[in-house]
Amino acid sequence: MNAHNDIKKCFFDLYKRFPIDVDRGEGAYLFGKDGSWYLDFLSGIAVNALGYNHPAILSALEKQMKRNLHLSNYFIQDIQVELAARLIELTPFSKVFFTNSGTEAIEGLLKVVKKWARQNNKKEIIAFEGSFHGRSLGALSITIQEKYQSSFLPLLPDIITVPFNNAAALEKAISSRTAAIFYEGITGEGGVRPVSDEMFTVMNKGRDTYGYLIIADEIQTGVGRTGKFYHFEHTPLIPDAIATAKGLGGGLPLGAFMVLEHLSEIFVRGEHGTTYGGNPLACAAGLATVNTVADKQFLNNVEQRGYYFKSQLQHIVDDFKDQVVDVRGMGLMLGMELKNPAQSVMDEAFKQGLIINIAGGNTLRFVPPLIVDEILIDEACNKLHKTLKILFL
Ligand code: PLP
Repeated sequence: MNAHNDIKKCFFDLYKRFPIDVDRGEGAYLFGKDGSWYLDFLSGIAVNALGYNHPAILSALEKQMKRNLHLSNYFIQDIQVELAARLIELTPFSKVFFTNSGTEAIEGLLKVVKKWARQNNKKEIIAFEGSFHGRSLGALSITIQEKYQSSFLPLLPDIITVPFNNAAALEKAISSRTAAIFYEGITGEGGVRPVSDEMFTVMNKGRDTYGYLIIADEIQTGVGRTGKFYHFEHTPLIPDAIATAKGLGGGLPLGAFMVLEHLSEIFVRGEHGTTYGGNPLACAAGLATVNTVADKQFLNNVEQRGYYFKSQLQHIVDDFKDQVVDVRGMGLMLGMELKNPAQSVMDEAFKQGLIINIAGGNTLRFVPPLIVDEILIDEACNKLHKTLKILFL
């Protein structure tokens, strides 16, 4: 079989794929079957929090593989309970529901919101322009981007759209009808844009006045990505619920939604469920990942390396001022917005051995594994600098 040739025959043409037939990964590197190798600062779209082949994950998987691969939620599964208890210990939340993906976590939370709204005579959900919460019909309804929504309208009703980081518009949109606000602390697919402090103030104030749910989509920002275990810890706001996924499973498909105590009785038995969610293999990898990332020193390193990476990117900007709008983000979730379409930069970076991608139009997104050190960051920055030199000097 030649995967390069067969890919067009087998799949919908939905992805522009990197021209590498991957053999294996190791740490922050990916190796092609042809002997090529790449520094991977995309990490399976912010999933491989500990990089490829991390010993803690491998040994947890090996142990669990020999016990059982799947049981279903009709059984008590120690590994699943241990992971849920650890997440509860690490956060203000008191109930966990495991899913297979971020989208499913958002879908579950939409059901939480819907039921809570019926009970409390509320109706509307506020979502921000440029948001990304997933592609199933519910999650897509609050993914306010025309390119994702337009072919699938109409979607859920009563979604109120507010321009990103426009606190005055948010204040205006909030009312006694508001059931929930969904936000990403830093937009992922929407261009690595951090939510402003003013927005958090308005969200908090509105919740005090009217009583609605604030839902943080921590799917990309969570599990250490920004230097705290969850992004909301950087903010003055405790969300009523969060969705988490991506890094949570350390490479296995695992997501979750978690709610504060006041929502812990929202579902009655049978109202929600999943066959695979909380699968023991995924939870074993998740527990190894969470136990590694939640360590104070580990999170400190992410924060410090984030500062270092950002400062090195800023040096690159100094040499290519004409090409760059700004560098933004937090921890190891950084973006560099270019004045022109970024595709040629992404393609040339790949030729130089650096894997990055584009988020929200012209923004290069950097989401390396959280284990990168300054040497790897320097290597990435050198490759990026060379890329820009080839293209623009
Ligand atoms: N929410 C955010 C912020 C995301 O970045 C993503 C995926 O990119 C999703 C939701 C959807 O998650 P998944 O692709 O795991 O379903």
